[in-house]
Amino acid sequence: MNKIYLDNAATTPLSEEVIDTMVAVLKTNYGNPSSTHSFGQEAKILLENVRREVANYLHVSPAEIIFTSCGTESNNMIIKSCVNHLGVERIITSPLEHKCVAETVLDMKKRKGVEVVYLRPDNKGDISLNDLTEALQKSDKKTLVSLMHANNEIGNLLDIKKVAEICKENNALFHSDTVQSMAHMELDFSDIKVDFASCSAHKFHGPKGSGFAFVRKSSGLKGIITGGPQERSLRAGTENVCGIAGLGKALELSVNNMEEYSSHIKEIKKYAIEQLQQKIEGVIFNGRSAEMDASLYTVLSVLLPFKDPMIGLKLDMKGIAISQGSACSSGASKPSMVMMMILDEEEMNNTTPLRVSFSHLTTKKEIDALVAALQGIAENFKIENHDIEHR
Ligand code: PLP
Repeated sequence: MNKIYLDNAATTPLSEEVIDTMVAVLKTNYGNPSSTHSFGQEAKILLENVRREVANYLHVSPAEIIFTSCGTESNNMIIKSCVNHLGVERIITSPLEHKCVAETVLDMKKRKGVEVVYLRPDNKGDISLNDLTEALQKSDKKTLVSLMHANNEIGNLLDIKKVAEICKENNALFHSDTVQSMAHMELDFSDIKVDFASCSAHKFHGPKGSGFAFVRKSSGLKGIITGGPQERSLRAGTENVCGIAGLGKALELSVNNMEEYSSHIKEIKKYAIEQLQQKIEGVIFNGRSAEMDASLYTVLSVLLPFKDPMIGLKLDMKGIAISQGSACSSGASKPSMVMMMILDEEEMNNTTPLRVSFSHLTTKKEIDALVAALQGIAENFKIENHDIEHR
């Protein structure tokens, strides 16, 4: 059975070039970047080259890039340090955030007494910027706004440039979880004035266990892992040199091929929308996911017009890997918070959400196989329902 992978928002396969780069580093560049001898200095040079590359992509200074182990760590470090070191007493966020932001915010509420304000999205999954401005103007408390750039379940894009401007006007700090958009879109942080952002290499064909935090210069942020002076004392611990090399290679490939990859993926997404609409009666798309300009092109959130909690398993048995929401909550029996926010009760009871997420490796043939499998499941469902009604 030829397996089909349509869960690229959860993680992506490593590029061959990334594997080659990492293997070469593992074999030859094994020095500790903090060592002063030539082995150490070689590793240090590698780190600094990748840091420069990341900084060039974001139009920022290399000193503003802190290598971490993942998106989760970056988001934790930023939010916790804003509270612990920068005097943040209030966090404005949304119920659509990834668990690593949502749980960290809740932790800060429980342990540090931080006030948390949730901006309620509408049924398209959009956050109102007027609500944000109003919330900001309601209190003088030092505030952090934490709103993600591209939603990992429905793909909605937030205008982070505008949000950053509103935050600046109201003297608030702005953190954006950019894990899903990083390396998939141009991001110019000399123009988009976010204070903090996050990245995870495995979302763009790099290795797991390698990411970075963007920390605006002079923000005063400190780390949560204490120890040695690595990463300007913001993230103690010997750096994951091979992982960082993999991140750098993956970023280079993504940036150099961004136009080609994105136009291929957009075509695949449009094809998937057309085929699903033609072949699955009653299918709709969640949030802004089917709007090409308002959503991340790698994510399509589908709402099937029947309830089938086993759908992921059924597709997996047909060799198609897909998720119903984010990978982090896919093992949970509870519906995802994002779906609870945008669907009404009737929809929740009678429909099945599916997240199809693409990469430059996805083909139209794979989409055909997915649509055919879904058609089969939908047909069976109709037959079963018909039998029940006529029993
Ligand atoms: N933020 C978003 C939006 C994500 O989609 C993910 C991963 O699913 C993360 C954060 C966490 O990233 P990592 O897996 O690197 O911890």
